[in-house]
Amino acid sequence: MKIAFPHMGRLYIALSAAIRILGGEVVVPPYNNKRTLELGSLNSPEAVCFPYKLILGNYMEAIENGADALLMIDSPGICRLGQYSSSLRTTLSDLGYDVKFINFDLYKGKLKELYVKFKEATGNANPITLIKAINMAILIINMLDDIDKVLSYYRARELNPGDTDKRYYRGLREIEAALSYKKALKAKKNTIEYIKSTPIDPEKDIVTVDLVGEVYVVLDQFSNLDVEKELGRLGVHVNRQINLSDWVKSSIMPSALRFGETHEEKARKSAKSFLKRDVGGDAIESVGDVALAGKEHSADGVVHLLPFTCMPEIVAQNILPNVRSEEDIPVLSLVLDEHMGKAGYITRLEAFVDLLRRRKRKSALAAVAS
Ligand code: SF4
Repeated sequence: MKIAFPHMGRLYIALSAAIRILGGEVVVPPYNNKRTLELGSLNSPEAVCFPYKLILGNYMEAIENGADALLMIDSPGICRLGQYSSSLRTTLSDLGYDVKFINFDLYKGKLKELYVKFKEATGNANPITLIKAINMAILIINMLDDIDKVLSYYRARELNPGDTDKRYYRGLREIEAALSYKKALKAKKNTIEYIKSTPIDPEKDIVTVDLVGEVYVVLDQFSNLDVEKELGRLGVHVNRQINLSDWVKSSIMPSALRFGETHEEKARKSAKSFLKRDVGGDAIESVGDVALAGKEHSADGVVHLLPFTCMPEIVAQNILPNVRSEEDIPVLSLVLDEHMGKAGYITRLEAFVDLLRRRKRKSALAAVAS
């Protein structure tokens, strides 16, 4: 079978590696683009959330490119994500596509479910290779998040715009080609070295911004109009609070294998005085992350990303003004959908960064005066 899966940030690198280690053939759909969105939007209910449309577009483009098996996730939770796979299956079948659907059912199990479904998708029943493939996927996910932290530091301080990204993409190509732990770790080391060779101004007056919100739009560069890169260009050091490695730790790893508090547990704790119960998606984390940034003074401001019609994040967005005034932290919420224009988006980011710079300067002057 030629296996495909949807894009979500760099997840494709980890999934492709696991499938290739198991001897499967991968069809990586073209990275999210205008056509992906058009295909998805044309065949989706208008009010369905933005990530759904892109995922449907990914599947349609993957089928066009020869995929005959699609990996999907059934996730527990109280938002539409729980319905994604059944709606996608119905739509693709109605469109006349004859493909096999392989569901990772996170209601049923975690690592065990990955094991069973990778075996079903690739036909490889060798337990050692299956464990190696799953470990490799997790290793790559963790590596990519580590690299992104270095990338963010250098992007904000680079002397020539775009230098850091060129080096980063060179490293990504090496990671994409790695099919063993040794090669993957070597590729990670090389990527960090490439990034660190970027000429920077370490004394540059930067501001720091935490990036929070719904996981898909936070991780997907197409739907968030490359917000991390745009902020980096404005001299902003971005700390992305929603990461795939954290999701793996809290949603895939059995609790016995987790060490320390997960990001989700920490965020839930700090959200408590504003939102007591889970309202679905990543809303409680959005509220908790903003509260934490204010309490710990770990960022000059927060950018909150939410997909249009995402109910959990709409709840979070309505709570954030309280968090913002109680914790004295500026927050910019950006709603993302297919009608979002880049020029207006950049203007809002620039105005927000200006505000953060003025606040920072003002508090530095106040500190000198006192
Ligand atoms: S969190 Fe929001 S965007 Fe994501 S699946 Fe749920 S409703 Fe849709």
